[in-house]
Amino acid sequence: MHINATLIDLYHVCKRECWLHANGINMEQTSETVYDGKLIHETSYADRSRKYNEIDVSAQYHGIDLYGKIDFYDTHNRIIHETKRSDKAEKAHEWQVKYYMWLLQLNGIQDVSAILEYPQLRQTSQIELTENDIEHLKNAIIEITQLKDMKECPPTIKKPICKNCSYYELCYINEE
Ligand code: SF4
Repeated sequence: MHINATLIDLYHVCKRECWLHANGINMEQTSETVYDGKLIHETSYADRSRKYNEIDVSAQYHGIDLYGKIDFYDTHNRIIHETKRSDKAEKAHEWQVKYYMWLLQLNGIQDVSAILEYPQLRQTSQIELTENDIEHLKNAIIEITQLKDMKECPPTIKKPICKNCSYYELCYINEE
């Protein structure tokens, strides 16, 4: 199986969302939230693509292919810049960024730092990667592969974040 940063992010938001995405049931393109997020990415820091590089990074763990696309990487200073629309899923965003840091480490690039940025909220946070974080990511990767193979979709989580999820109608169609 192929693991990417989206799966890492979704795994930390909702197991059901992770299962749906991992099994090819995608509704992202209809989500206004995702569209807004892309727009922020493109407009908030207009000169960013000139200063930083977009890089693809891959590795293997336990025979599982790991892949990540880092949109803004400051090669000179070894800093990942990750931009998000809202901090509602901040923990998941942090794990996504930590996953990128680990992927770079697996490729021999050490001492990478990362900044998570919320331009609309005028907030930034510095992200660190610890040995415990790497252990957590290794476990998460194994669990995502097991989750994907589950025959049944995990239950709904009934949390406020569901209202902004592109799977909302699919999940709650019978409850309205
Ligand atoms: S609507 Fe809620 S339960 Fe359904 S996939 Fe999204 S976050 Fe998970």
